[in-house]
Amino acid sequence: MSYSFLPYALPEIGDAEINEVVSSLKSGWITTGPKAKKFELAFSSFLGREDIESIAVNSATSGLHLALEAVGVQPGDEVIVPTYTFTATAEIVRYLGATPVFVDVDFESYNMTASSFRAAITPKTKAVVPVHFAGLACDMDSILAIAKEFNIKVIEDAAHALPTYYKGRLIGTLDSDATVFSFYANKTMTTGEGGMVVTTNLDIAKRCKVMRLHGISKDAFDRYSSTKPAWSYEVVAPGYKYNMPDISAAIGIHQLKRLPEFKVKREQLAKYYFEAFKDMHIGLAKLPQEDSSHAWHIFPIQLSNYKGITRDQFISRMSELGVGCSVHFIPLHLHPYWRDTFNLSPEMFPVAQHLFENEVSIPLYTRMSLEDAERVVKAVKQVLSYD
Ligand SMILES: *Cc1c(COP(=O)(O)O)cnc(C)c1O
Repeated sequence: MSYSFLPYALPEIGDAEINEVVSSLKSGWITTGPKAKKFELAFSSFLGREDIESIAVNSATSGLHLALEAVGVQPGDEVIVPTYTFTATAEIVRYLGATPVFVDVDFESYNMTASSFRAAITPKTKAVVPVHFAGLACDMDSILAIAKEFNIKVIEDAAHALPTYYKGRLIGTLDSDATVFSFYANKTMTTGEGGMVVTTNLDIAKRCKVMRLHGISKDAFDRYSSTKPAWSYEVVAPGYKYNMPDISAAIGIHQLKRLPEFKVKREQLAKYYFEAFKDMHIGLAKLPQEDSSHAWHIFPIQLSNYKGITRDQFISRMSELGVGCSVHFIPLHLHPYWRDTFNLSPEMFPVAQHLFENEVSIPLYTRMSLEDAERVVKAVKQVLSYD
């Protein structure tokens, strides 16, 4: 057992990933090309639905931006988002000049609820962006039904939800307009930076593909393999620069193969924590129903039953004991930009405010051993003076 500092998160990169990156570097093709294409096809087949289009991008943030653009979000529109999320979920709405409408979350799941979604709908509501917090799916049956009733587009922020089953179906295969995954360094699989938009709607897929590369009507790879002259292309819109380079896709191809193994490891660690904390008064995450699963991107605990210590003191004491912790999330209504621009206050989001004030995320990642998890548990017990 090592007594060095246990960081809050670490990526797990193996030789296969490293060798594939080296092969890209040596091949002469380092930007979007054959490996990005291969990664997209592998991703669709991982989701197991033949009619799914996977569109690789350089971050989930760019993917969310493309998806909202593709469903036609524009100035004057409102887009409903939870306050309990990362700022990317709402900033993409501002990229398009539209207005984010913030809603509170559920006390047990930390997720946007169907009733808070319904209550926030106005004639201007164009889209909703449910976030599957920590890797537990939102109540998607209800959210999709309400969206259908009011003709609202649904773009799932699935940055934490790879892989997550919802009632027997993988997130990414539900009937929303598009779903976006993140391959940021600390997510359940990584490409360094990267993301994937998935959709079964061919118009959305086509628009995302055009807009991810300057609004060019064919992507670079197709361009060089088509019968048109290699130098020829057409610009049909002022697009973005959101394509995923082959250097990143090289990592993704192998990370994706390891996802089932990563999932087992994360579940083992989560199970270990549940067992270790069962007699303590720590608030633990809601567990999925039988035909659903949790991706355990984050393992949140709630300290509201421990009056002698503040959340911030807890995190510094853990750090002194060599364990890195984090907080997810500082709700958007507390950040100056969102608070001041949209007149938000904590009283408008009592559940999110309470969850935030008492939340700590403890380390949970595939490179941790069970001894590392044991060390985290010991530190938690020591800090909370629990025998
Ligand atoms: C990480 C994250 C994102 C952004 O992902 P990037 O790939 O870094 O752009 C978006 N939403 C949520 C909820 C996240 O946690």
